[in-house]
Amino acid sequence: MKKILIVATVWIIFIGGFFLWNLSEARKAQEENLYQTARVFFEQIDLIRNWIRSHGGVYVPISEHAQPNPYLIDPRKNLHTEDGIDLTKISPSHMTRQIADLLSDKRGVNFKLASFSPINPINMATPLEREALHAFADGYGEFGRKVQIDGNPGFFYMAPLPTSADCFLCHDAKGFNQENIIGGISITMPELPDFRFASLAWVYVWTGLAGVFGIVFFGNKLNQSYQEIEKLSLLDPLTGVPNRRAFTENLNREYNICSRDDAPLSVILCDIDCFKDYNDFYGHDAGDEALKQVARVLLNNSKRPGDMCARFGGEEFVIVLPRTDHDGAFHIAEKVREHVAALHIEHKKSRVTQHVTLSLGVATAKHPATTSPREMLTCADKALYSAKEKGRNRAEVMILRHFRWIEYVG
Ligand code: GH3
Ligand code: MG
Ligand code: MG
Repeated sequence: MKKILIVATVWIIFIGGFFLWNLSEARKAQEENLYQTARVFFEQIDLIRNWIRSHGGVYVPISEHAQPNPYLIDPRKNLHTEDGIDLTKISPSHMTRQIADLLSDKRGVNFKLASFSPINPINMATPLEREALHAFADGYGEFGRKVQIDGNPGFFYMAPLPTSADCFLCHDAKGFNQENIIGGISITMPELPDFRFASLAWVYVWTGLAGVFGIVFFGNKLNQSYQEIEKLSLLDPLTGVPNRRAFTENLNREYNICSRDDAPLSVILCDIDCFKDYNDFYGHDAGDEALKQVARVLLNNSKRPGDMCARFGGEEFVIVLPRTDHDGAFHIAEKVREHVAALHIEHKKSRVTQHVTLSLGVATAKHPATTSPREMLTCADKALYSAKEKGRNRAEVMILRHFRWIEYVG
């Protein structure tokens, strides 16, 4: 579970990092879009201004929306046609204001001329426009910034308008020279709704959740399979009792615990008598069946917490009895021997009796710290050998007291 949590956390960090990266890229793209849109507005208006300027201004009929420009110094500012129409000259700046009014009404886009010292005071630069004009003086070609328009997100853009000789066809030079930047056109427009953020966030939230779900689900499945394999790798496939590997791990663990607590530890080696003859006479399948029945008896007699029985190999089994002295271990060994005999598994070829019997070797370490698991097994084997020698179908005990002092109980 801990590993699953680590993988899930790494996944969330990964997907979170990817989201932040994607978000920053999307924001950059959005800002670039705003710049592009503003540039198009600026270029269009600049194009029309240039066209008007190239003609020295254009004449339009005087109307409510087209009044003579009081700031235009031109002897031919107003004309009267032969058919009685009054015309007035429209300068590029005059045109800019008129188009700005139209666009502002329709799209919420505002643009205006701005200058430090304008001819028409209405074009006096605002603080933000002044900042932009200073930036142009420092060599910047354009200026953009996200702003709030009536509480909504918007974008401010400004680009410079350098003076040219044409300007002075209509305007008094008023101290400007040709290299001066007399001002610029500022454009303020509402920011496009940030749909990208919401959809991006949803995609990542769902991808992230799906990933976490997948990690937890498949991680658990994998964990279960792993545990199953681990369990199977510790079991003897024929009898279903723990195998030699599980036994060794268990004996080492119990040995350490009993050594620390100075508690007695016993081991019983069990060997089926004359089993080769059984196999030879009854066949291997019958032999397997007998092994299973014997294993069941061992399992039933090692039920105390900490007790363990295992298949040691071939027709040999082993029982580990922690906190059990030689009396207790001998008692268990006798019980196992009697229960196996009580199975009455026919064995006509046995040199002991007419049914399957067990010989058992018990080794008890009074103070396990003074010996070792390997030495205990050697002693149990010696006790078993003794039981075989004494005619089989019996249990023999050996006690390991102190360093290498082994007492044979018999
Ligand atoms: P003793 O009384 O001295 O122990 O004689 P024994 O015949 O039991 O001992 P021996 O070591 O000579 O033979 C052990 C036999 O156990 C050999 C083999 O046929 C049998 N055996 C070992 N493993 C298996 C198994 O997995 N299945 C079966 N059916 N037989 C097995
Ligand atoms: Mg044997
Ligand atoms: Mg045997």
